[in-house]
Amino acid sequence: MRIGIDLGGTKIEGIAIADDGSVRLRRRIPAPRGDYRNTLEAVAALVRGIEGEMGVEGTVGIGIPGTMSQATGRIKNANSTWLNGTPLSDDLAEMLDRPIRLANDANCFALSEATDGAGAGARVVFGVIVGTGTGGGVVVDQRVVAGVNGVAGEWGHNPLPAPRDGERPGPRCYCGRLGCIETFLSGPALSADYAAGGGTVATAKEIASRAADGEALALAALERYEERMARALGSVINLLDPDVIVLGGGVSNITRLYERVPQLWAPYIFSDAVATRLVPAVHGDSSGVRGAAWLWPPDDDQRRAR
Ligand SMILES: [Zn+2]
Repeated sequence: MRIGIDLGGTKIEGIAIADDGSVRLRRRIPAPRGDYRNTLEAVAALVRGIEGEMGVEGTVGIGIPGTMSQATGRIKNANSTWLNGTPLSDDLAEMLDRPIRLANDANCFALSEATDGAGAGARVVFGVIVGTGTGGGVVVDQRVVAGVNGVAGEWGHNPLPAPRDGERPGPRCYCGRLGCIETFLSGPALSADYAAGGGTVATAKEIASRAADGEALALAALERYEERMARALGSVINLLDPDVIVLGGGVSNITRLYERVPQLWAPYIFSDAVATRLVPAVHGDSSGVRGAAWLWPPDDDQRRAR
């Protein structure tokens, strides 16, 4: 049995999945915000509770909203800031008496979709969560490529490629830079661009719906969005050349992206033909926690922790 834990800022979700990917059990508890010691206790209790109900021990993989420094083994870049600087993986390994695997939540999303989701069977998968942010993850042969700095796949904090006059220097990003891809392609960025173009306050979903109804301002905002996504993903393809790019998060529900963006990205890609597929996630909001469980992959000799 594989146990996956999604350690979010407001909730902690745990699932048990079988070798065939079927979910056997799902539990959700509120996150002890701001309290590291209670977070450890809550995760350990969740794991033990799942094992008690299932009557079997499992491997444990954890998705976190940050990354682990390879140099120190400590958490960094977590927006659940009480985790930063902590040896989360080591502490949980000690409490649960087994090795723990831990990965960034966008990497878990990508791993889930690469294992038995929209990228199943593909060698190289780039997974992107376009929602409140634009996190990304790289998976090769069903293994997460975390990177020596723990930032592999963080395309959202690259500058928007080939910026037009109206896009320079670009909006201020929370990371401190100007014109990051995230400031153009997150859900809030789409809303802000629509409002700046004369539209009202609206979510990405509402903008897509208005565009479908023929509202010119909404359609123009979506067309700008699609062209920007084409530029941003074009540079990803030049660097990584993935078989599949999987989109998750709220903005990924805009179905016209999957037709329009690949029609627009060719000028930015150094190839006469582009075989990369752009597809929506299969597992939706469950992908993060499923990917955490798949940190112990089916063909891993060490998947039995004990
Ligand atoms: Zn940024």
